[in-house]
Amino acid sequence: MAGRHQHEWFVESAHHTSDGLVAYQRCECGHRRVAVATLRAESGREDPGPRFGTAA
Ligand SMILES: [Zn+2]
Repeated sequence: MAGRHQHEWFVESAHHTSDGLVAYQRCECGHRRVAVATLRAESGREDPGPRFGTAA
């Protein structure tokens, strides 16, 4: 196990907070991370929904 592999994150769960959408992501290798997607409220739209680059 010499090199790093490219993590493939998928979202385990996500929660709306005052800071935006917090998503708990996990890779198949066991690594985890927390991603925060801040939502822009400039347009006055309702919930634009989360935007993550991870495929379903
Ligand atoms: Zn990984």
